[in-house]
Amino acid sequence: MKTRTLLRLSGSGLRTFLSRGKRPLVASIILTERCNLACRHCAVHDTNGVLYPYMSVRADMQTLLDKGVRILFFYGGEPWLWHDAGKTLSDLVREAKSMGFLLVNVVTNGTIDLDLPEADLILVSVDGTREHHNLIRGSSYDRVLANLRNAPARNICLYMAINKLNQVDLEAVSRLARDLPKVKAVSFNFHTPYPGTEELALSAAEKRDCCDRLTLLLEDGCPILNLRSVFPYLVANNWPRPCRQCIIMENGRSWTCGRCIDIPGLCETCGFFFAAEYSLLFSGRPRIVWDFARSYLRWL
Ligand code: SF4
Ligand code: SF4
Repeated sequence: MKTRTLLRLSGSGLRTFLSRGKRPLVASIILTERCNLACRHCAVHDTNGVLYPYMSVRADMQTLLDKGVRILFFYGGEPWLWHDAGKTLSDLVREAKSMGFLLVNVVTNGTIDLDLPEADLILVSVDGTREHHNLIRGSSYDRVLANLRNAPARNICLYMAINKLNQVDLEAVSRLARDLPKVKAVSFNFHTPYPGTEELALSAAEKRDCCDRLTLLLEDGCPILNLRSVFPYLVANNWPRPCRQCIIMENGRSWTCGRCIDIPGLCETCGFFFAAEYSLLFSGRPRIVWDFARSYLRWL
């Protein structure tokens, strides 16, 4: 990350902290729910299949910028499938940067060419070894790995949702992140048990075991973009939620933290590390602020 970007982000982060949670810093825009996969743990696959209009996406970007958001993620479905009014994902990323977002990132299933050097970070889902990834995401592992190897820029972070089927694979995915030249790091989440996917959720003991193993991997120098200081809160499930510094927009509608906030009881079993990390970060705990600065400077 460039020093100038880091300084500007620190200023925005400080304003968010001083606003006591009223000013969001991080946002996601859903471009479409259309997707070319049908993963076992998915809650949104092709709910409506619509590609949202460019003018609506543009208006959402302006709304977020006006609220103070400076870190933007484009999400799907599969965001690479989005196009409208002659614009593609690449145009949106460039436009977001020219509007004033400091970091512009994309979350993808990685099955389409990862040719997007203008993005700051591309989060690519790899849900374990070939066997477990394909069990969860359909037969897509080899395509994703080929795209990771052929990507034109080193702006990629692997993204793994840990569940009952793939919890043995933390070490394999961490090593993959370390060894692939275009990959900077890997970021983990626990599976969040959306209705119909509850059987994939980890028990408290399994979460503890995963956090212990992630700690060992971090000590071994693996590029893991998660905060070790937050692991005890994830295991005890006692972090403050929803995360008021995060916002999500879809075709003009907005939600605090995630659309999942509308699902009764889901927040109590949330597995999204980012929600715990950001909400604890902005509660001002010095150890977490230090861990955040160190991890993000080290890996991004
Ligand atoms: S790639 Fe993402 S949106 Fe598509 S089915 Fe899988 S989890 Fe759902
Ligand atoms: S805390 Fe609730 S709204 Fe936020 S990501 Fe978790 S489940 Fe979704």
